[in-house]
Amino acid sequence: MGLSTLKNKKLILAICACLLAITAHSQETELDVLSYELTIEPNIQNQSIEGSLLIKFEVADSINEISLDASTLEIYKVSGASVIYHKKVDSKLLVDLTPQEQTLHEIAIHYHGNPERGLLFNADKNQAHTVFFTDHWMVSNNAPNDRATFSINILLPKGMQSIASGELVGIEEKGEKELHKWHQSYETPSYTYGFVIGSFTETTEPIGEVNLNYYSSELDENELKEMFIETSAILEFFEQKSGIEYVQDSYSQILIGDNYQEMSGLSVLADSYPTFVFRDSSEIHLISHELAHQWWGNMITCKDFGHFWLNEAFAVYMSSAFSEHRFGKEKYQSDIAIYKSIYDDLVERGLDRPLVFEEWRSNRDNRNVVYYKGAYVLHILREELGDEAFWKGIQYYSKSYFGKSVTTDDFKLAMEEATNSDLDAFFETWIY
Ligand SMILES: [Zn+2]
Repeated sequence: MGLSTLKNKKLILAICACLLAITAHSQETELDVLSYELTIEPNIQNQSIEGSLLIKFEVADSINEISLDASTLEIYKVSGASVIYHKKVDSKLLVDLTPQEQTLHEIAIHYHGNPERGLLFNADKNQAHTVFFTDHWMVSNNAPNDRATFSINILLPKGMQSIASGELVGIEEKGEKELHKWHQSYETPSYTYGFVIGSFTETTEPIGEVNLNYYSSELDENELKEMFIETSAILEFFEQKSGIEYVQDSYSQILIGDNYQEMSGLSVLADSYPTFVFRDSSEIHLISHELAHQWWGNMITCKDFGHFWLNEAFAVYMSSAFSEHRFGKEKYQSDIAIYKSIYDDLVERGLDRPLVFEEWRSNRDNRNVVYYKGAYVLHILREELGDEAFWKGIQYYSKSYFGKSVTTDDFKLAMEEATNSDLDAFFETWIY
């Protein structure tokens, strides 16, 4: 294995390292959150937050207790017309509701937090950014199949910048501070919400109706443009493959910290990443991987984390499909060879297993299954169906489930319908 392949492998493996510790269980939620409206004041020096949240949700009228995810947040107060009582039990906030005819509820929650994960502070650089674990900075429903709209007002010292899910609808002066108001009008799962605060060099590239925004505290404007030069081509490629236009008015990429994480309408990429891209301009897997999640992940979301491969293998595979389109077949084949070698290694060590998990547990080997075996399996499926049928199927699947939750069966049926084929044997061999 050559040096460049090794380096490539190491970079590819850096993707979404933040998911290292997540262990999620499949759960059918009875709770349907419609909207979160959060006002948050982060204190970077103290690494703390004060939050006040309004949640609108529906539950069956037979339900008189709900359970929300609240990690280590300290709850001051829970109020609302139907609230009787609340208690915090471990990471859950349990709220008793009055028995009533109505199914629509609105409750307000005031809380304090010192997040150890989910919101990462850098006091030296006066920055902070969220990463995946939303319940560490906002009381929420973690279930990936519960989609809701999201508004966030961030109270910041004057002059500080914010980038968050949705669109910036205004900045209000509040004495020495400013309230940055963001609103996301369409529904996504709570793990996709996020924000970044700090002082950054910023540059914008308008592509049709979409503003591509790039931020860094280390690069200048020209370097930022060079770093993210492929973004518009990647966005157009995914629009074409999915058959669905990018839904937001903007997509922001922020170079910050050590993580690679997609959120709704933005992604954070590690501060160290430009070194690799400037050395080899085809080394853009992480840019394309996180952007792919704006379709496969954020808008077409695994129903529970047992079907996580539908988020991650798709992002990995789509990033290689873009590389093929942009840099040629050889680049694509070298990616596939890496995915295959990871799969072969799993087989050799007796750790190969189905892509679908009864109960998802995140560890390196399981991630290698859902990310890289998954991407390799999509490659094999394309070989089996042929290019035209494969992409027709991917587009049919993407259009059918855009804005919805999906299971592996949904994907199988969509591919079968679109390509008029029987994939029982393929899915039995490679996926289940
Ligand atoms: Zn990912």
